[in-house]
Amino acid sequence: MSASRPRVVVLAGGVGGSTFTVGVRAALARRGAPEATVVVNTGDDLWLSGVRLQPDIDSVLYRLAGQNDAARGWGRAGETERVNAELQEWGAGWPWFTLGDLDLGTHLARTGWLREGLTPSEVVARLSQRWPLGVHLLPMTDHEVDTHVVIAGDGDADERESGERALHFQEWWTRYRATLPPVRFENPGMAAASPAPGVLEAIADADVVLVAPSNPVVSIGPILAVPGLREALRAASAPVVGVSPIIGGRVVRGMADVCLTAIGVETSASAVAAHYGARADGGLLDAWLLAEEDADSADEVSARGIRPIVRPLWMTDAAATADMADAALDAAGV
Ligand code: GDP
Ligand code: CA
Repeated sequence: MSASRPRVVVLAGGVGGSTFTVGVRAALARRGAPEATVVVNTGDDLWLSGVRLQPDIDSVLYRLAGQNDAARGWGRAGETERVNAELQEWGAGWPWFTLGDLDLGTHLARTGWLREGLTPSEVVARLSQRWPLGVHLLPMTDHEVDTHVVIAGDGDADERESGERALHFQEWWTRYRATLPPVRFENPGMAAASPAPGVLEAIADADVVLVAPSNPVVSIGPILAVPGLREALRAASAPVVGVSPIIGGRVVRGMADVCLTAIGVETSASAVAAHYGARADGGLLDAWLLAEEDADSADEVSARGIRPIVRPLWMTDAAATADMADAALDAAGV
């Protein structure tokens, strides 16, 4: 047991990211360490029915606040859908995308504050005040960047000259359940984006940076694509420790395998580590937590210049997840 009090930054998506963050919060509480700064993907954000949605921010927010629907895996506990039914009657929004009543309360509050001129990170700060979260939440950027999935077209009018069609990530994921084979992912708006206030400072001041077991392509990918962020991680004095979202060659939850295949990365813990790359080689990682099921690939990870650490990686309950986070902190030597 280490008695240190590290300053921790976590890079996170929604599902794996929020679960892991709860573990980090517990591990840091055990050490009496300061609250972690969690940098959350905003590539999935979108405007729908006149309101701004931030799926990953809200997943992390609700989860840390204990307000999430654990059975369903997304949204608020005790949710109702009266407004959604009414929106469907009007033919507004997306018929395949449910907006819960409580969730809409969040979106209305957020949209109102944005309209009043608050920046997205100021809005996240306000949303963070209602419940004691035990972490400091930051969006990756205040700029509007999207994640689009480019698919092969079928001759429709809305296609590009190349015969390809771009869908918003949410449509591809929720409506088509990731069944349309992606040609590639794009982040329109990214070139003009910059990290949200506080992100670069948190990275520079960190004792350790943790990469949550989140989707490497559409959750961690957009965070790393924010101009300046990768450079800041490379320049940081803190070690960067990643946690594999792949266990035994399979994604635990979600459809990350489809995303990995689209960018030419095999669905394996070692291939994802290689995709992130060794910091010594200009990549991201110093160390990589691998599941016990993937112990065989430890040598492969090591050969790439990344220190492999084999651990149980199932986030089955709060204690197991806190132990995982603790192992990641130990790996960083903090
Ligand atoms: P999204 O933004 O909602 O897609 O969520 P994330 O990107 O944060 O998380 C999705 C990833 O979490 C998937 O690729 C899963 O493989 C991973 N994941 C979910 N549960 C677990 C778990 O118990 N252990 C590990 N190691 N990974 C998990
Ligand atoms: Ca997401």
